[in-house]
Amino acid sequence: MTNPERDPDELVLDPCAATSEVEILRARDVPLGGPRAMSVRRTLPQRHRSLIGAWCFVDHYGPDRVADSGGMVVASHPHTGLQTVSWLFTGEVEHTDSAGNHAMVRPGEVNLMTAGHGISHSEVSTDGTEVLHGVQLWVALPDASRDVDPGFAHHAPEPVSGDGWVARVFLGSLLGDTSPVETHTPLLGVELLLDAGTVLDLDVDAAFEHGVLVDTGVVEVCGQEATSGDLAYVAPGRTGLRLSAGAAAARVLVLGGTPFGESIVMWWNFVGRTHDEIVGFREEWQQRIASGTDGRFGIVDHPLPPIPAPPMPHVRLKQRR
Ligand code: MN
Repeated sequence: MTNPERDPDELVLDPCAATSEVEILRARDVPLGGPRAMSVRRTLPQRHRSLIGAWCFVDHYGPDRVADSGGMVVASHPHTGLQTVSWLFTGEVEHTDSAGNHAMVRPGEVNLMTAGHGISHSEVSTDGTEVLHGVQLWVALPDASRDVDPGFAHHAPEPVSGDGWVARVFLGSLLGDTSPVETHTPLLGVELLLDAGTVLDLDVDAAFEHGVLVDTGVVEVCGQEATSGDLAYVAPGRTGLRLSAGAAAARVLVLGGTPFGESIVMWWNFVGRTHDEIVGFREEWQQRIASGTDGRFGIVDHPLPPIPAPPMPHVRLKQRR
């Protein structure tokens, strides 16, 4: 079939055209604890939005001078039902976990730790680190795989670049590159550097929802302005995302995934499905500290003593989605 018009208009197709709006999620400052605790900017979870795809936790920190902040000194602590995704812009962090993995987290290299059934780990910035700047992200595991054995993956993506941009695809596929790191739900994780004034149209999966975390600069995400620390949420249904850098160079992370579709209970470092399950995880961790034997969370070969769980809240934890 052909267009019957004699003089058809030229149409400019906006890749962002969709009925849904872009929602800017603002960060709140959260101290990590300890005497000179560094603080992080948390944009997920929020009261009104718990997940973007399976991404369930977004902490953004720095740039902090370690001499002022004390750096990252996080002793052994447990996780269940999730994966941690560490991505640095500056500095170096030493990771040690109870599954026997020991790795350095470095800029431009993703470290993905699968907690699954249960793991414990420590994260400490190295002595040579003067400035610490990066993100700590969590991915919720779907019910079918949340009890898998713990694991660890590392990948240093080869940068892909074009006119005014450089991308590092650490999870999923974008801009012609695909990360080899396996995920349990469809996911996207990309670092993008944009020169001042760059307008970049990304072809994305319409089944995905997205979050664009602005690290530096000011970026319009499908026409909505987001500044450093903001997470711009874009609902599913779009085949394109338009990112427009302002008068300065910008760095963003593009996160995405298909809507998770399962309700979860998140408390402290655990992802579960019910209040009682979380209570059980907490008790197993406290037991692990008291007895010194391994069990669900294993033992981290690190001199710092493990971090006790905080007391459970007096209300029953509710599921979120
Ligand atoms: Mn952790």
